[in-house]
Amino acid sequence: MATITLPEAEVQENKTANKQSSTKYVYSFGGGKADGNGKMKDVLGGKGAGLAEMTNAGLPVPPGFTIQTEACREYMRTGGTSKEVDRQMDEALAKLEALQGQKLGTGENPLLVSVRSGAKFSMPGMMDTILNLGLNDKSVEALAKRSNNPRFAADSYRRLIQMFGNVVLEIEKPAFDEVFDAKKKQRKTKLDTDLTAKDLQEVIVEYKKVVKKHTKRDFPQDPREQLVLARDAVFRSWQNDRAKHYRRMNNIDDMLGTAVNVQAMVFGNLGDTSGSGVGFTRNPAIGTKEFYGEFLMNAQGEDVVSGVRTPVPILELQKILPEAYDQLREITTRLETHYKDVQDFEFTVQDGKLYMLQTRNGKRTGLAAVRIAIQMVDEGLITKEEAIFRVEPNQLYDFLVPRLDEKSTKVEVLATGLPASPGAAVGQIVFTADEAVKMAGHDTTKKPVILVRAETTPEDIHGMEVAKGILTSRGGMTSHAAVVTRGMGKCCVAGAGDIDVNEKSREMRVKGQTFKEGDWISLDGTTGRVIKGKLNTLDPSPDDPELQKFMQWADPYRKMKVRANADIPRDAVQARAFGAEGIGLCRTEHMFFGEEKIPHMRAMILANNEKDRRAALKKLLPMQRADFAGVFKAMDGLPVTIRTLDPPLHEFLPRREDLMVEIATLPHADAKEKKALVERYSDYGAKGVGDLKKLLPTLLARVEQLHEFNPMLGHRGCRLGITYPEITEMQARAIFEAAVDCTKKGIKVLPEVMIPLVATVKEMANQAAIVRRVADEVFKEKGTKVEYMVGTMIELPRAALVADEIAKEAEFFSFGTNDLTQTTFGFSRDDVNKVLPTYLAEGILKQDPFAALDQEGVGQLVKMATERGRKTRPTLKVGICGEHGGEPSSVEFCYRTGLNYVSCSPFRVLTARLAAAQAAAAETLKVEGGRTK
Ligand code: PEP
Ligand code: MG
Repeated sequence: MATITLPEAEVQENKTANKQSSTKYVYSFGGGKADGNGKMKDVLGGKGAGLAEMTNAGLPVPPGFTIQTEACREYMRTGGTSKEVDRQMDEALAKLEALQGQKLGTGENPLLVSVRSGAKFSMPGMMDTILNLGLNDKSVEALAKRSNNPRFAADSYRRLIQMFGNVVLEIEKPAFDEVFDAKKKQRKTKLDTDLTAKDLQEVIVEYKKVVKKHTKRDFPQDPREQLVLARDAVFRSWQNDRAKHYRRMNNIDDMLGTAVNVQAMVFGNLGDTSGSGVGFTRNPAIGTKEFYGEFLMNAQGEDVVSGVRTPVPILELQKILPEAYDQLREITTRLETHYKDVQDFEFTVQDGKLYMLQTRNGKRTGLAAVRIAIQMVDEGLITKEEAIFRVEPNQLYDFLVPRLDEKSTKVEVLATGLPASPGAAVGQIVFTADEAVKMAGHDTTKKPVILVRAETTPEDIHGMEVAKGILTSRGGMTSHAAVVTRGMGKCCVAGAGDIDVNEKSREMRVKGQTFKEGDWISLDGTTGRVIKGKLNTLDPSPDDPELQKFMQWADPYRKMKVRANADIPRDAVQARAFGAEGIGLCRTEHMFFGEEKIPHMRAMILANNEKDRRAALKKLLPMQRADFAGVFKAMDGLPVTIRTLDPPLHEFLPRREDLMVEIATLPHADAKEKKALVERYSDYGAKGVGDLKKLLPTLLARVEQLHEFNPMLGHRGCRLGITYPEITEMQARAIFEAAVDCTKKGIKVLPEVMIPLVATVKEMANQAAIVRRVADEVFKEKGTKVEYMVGTMIELPRAALVADEIAKEAEFFSFGTNDLTQTTFGFSRDDVNKVLPTYLAEGILKQDPFAALDQEGVGQLVKMATERGRKTRPTLKVGICGEHGGEPSSVEFCYRTGLNYVSCSPFRVLTARLAAAQAAAAETLKVEGGRTK
């Protein structure tokens, strides 16, 4: 059994002045000693650093070498690999060959290697891997002889040609699949393992033809050439679309590059005492303390994760190979104690001997993250302070994911798969990622869809992103679908083997029933059930005792308040349950959309004199008052910021395009009208009415295509209240009447009236004067006073620039960073998506600035306005109520900038609370990488 001593070796920095000639590109590991160490993730990538650390610790790791990330960056810059990299690689290869007593792809006992990517941050499945490298027409025979297993040798060789063909030579996978499937069909078998050595040798002949056909050259027989080509292909895979997409989603720097790990192959497919597996030291889905994972006997690692065969629970290994199992448990337990975190490991058993291939901190759901953090504190492994950083703020969303409401509808369970990622999802079936995007829209706002696949691959990532849930018929708890959805906090049922998914004909069959695209199903990712039809979902309760306990550890560090954006009493109640400490934004326009209110609102807008407008407003007053009273009641004792009317009035009216009207009236127009129309469109080539019938719809389609919608800079915000003061009057009256009424009932009311879209101090003064006058009138009429404040939103660059002036009139500021981002960039909030995907793909922007605050640009305005405002009014209360108020990196920025509170949608309150607590705790505790210094 391996004795583990995990040294804290120091980072070896290369401080030599002449970098070009002295860069150490290649780091060897093996024989109990590694050139690198576990801290060198920047250089060696996560995997390479882990291999070095495990080797130094005396773990049974197959030896090899890591080509560092700088070589990849050079490859990106120059399109090639330098001679120096080649030289160092050859040197390391010679060392490896000496250590193994083997030669790469040569001789009676050929060395075979794996070539794998490995960046600083884990990007599971996004980049490429090649196994069994070194096999060729000769070495395959040597391997057959040595292993006394010709079938295994042929199988390894055909796998190499397939992987190498796909990854390095860029031949599409189906070209190989067709050959393999044809062979299985010919042999009338379903399982890969039923094919004999002879069958596989025939497959190899066919595979080589595929290579020749697609690349006009033979499959390379020279092992070193294979190695060089594979290495470069892995470098290139850093730039493939799915890797780029993953980096964008996870905010990983495009310039980091990947390392390449070349490692002696060990074989899990040598027969009944060999196998491969993956696992976690604790359950990553629900956080229970159990040795967790799966393996397959007589299989290589890729078989376990690809889902081609459904793996067996890891505990079974205890019965099959007890010694290897015990050693695995011992090693992984020690690894967990050493890293003080859950480990996600890969292993292979070759002829009964255990090899550790990889270990890293395991990804887990929010539910598991909280539970494991608490367990580890209880076990004395980490401190409470460290525990605070073990949960990503966005992961808390998991506690808020919906559950299925099983009481309201009859539940027909179609199949039960693995509960791969918790929560519930209800939607219409789609069978391809592209179709998912088509139906759900890029922002999931169109239709809820469930992506159903036999198994998912990294190419499905865009569809998985927009789907409500994922269902696969193959694969285990560590399959691609399971791992990726857990990271996304998205419901997933994997490996539901009773379901027959036919992606080609776009249908799935189960229990004798056929389901087609568009049919509804419901998934329960917590139990693994697949249910027929459209069930309702239940809002989850945030009062999980472990979540409460965790938040009790984190919250005391928090110095910034967290409020919610809520417009109606129901949302306010919900927000309070999540721990909101007030309302930071009540958008009053949302109160006007109610069925009984909209006619009066329209009457108000259509009125063409003040008298009629006031008459309509009078009808609205009691309704607004009742809404405000409801919100005050829900927030008893906490501040409520109510914003006066903001959006342009036309948003309340139906839109009519001239063209549409003309199309509709054309058939009934008289001769004169028709003549006028033909004349108007004569420039477009209309000569008669017949032409118009074609032309107008064509024009309309094009006009709609080109249409840009920018009412955001129009007659809205305080401009409305200034041009129609009676609107502000009515709203102020509704607020103060409700406030006084509530106060009389014993409710503690703290209203903050907020004026939107202010650019000058005079606008602010104008609106504040109305609000204060109406407040005095109401207090006099009712004989009771209420404390209140009048403040403004800072959502225009000019307001930020003259914030010192505005603060003379405004008692508080709240940053409307949605509009501030729009106006600072000059991007329209409504149609920025026409350019944003390209900007992100090209790296012009790193993140969507409407999602995460642009700290460099918009952030400067936030900082400046806060400083200038407080110069005038040192006690100025400053908050943020744009979407950024619930986004962790923006929350951290707000903390650093000295804001008093952030305000976000109710479901993000927990996230904002944790992000704010982490920001403050990191400062107090001096935390680095999740550990206190
Ligand atoms: C903002 O602009 O950031 C804001 C909160 O207001 P709205 O989104 O309603 O314009
Ligand atoms: Mg705004």
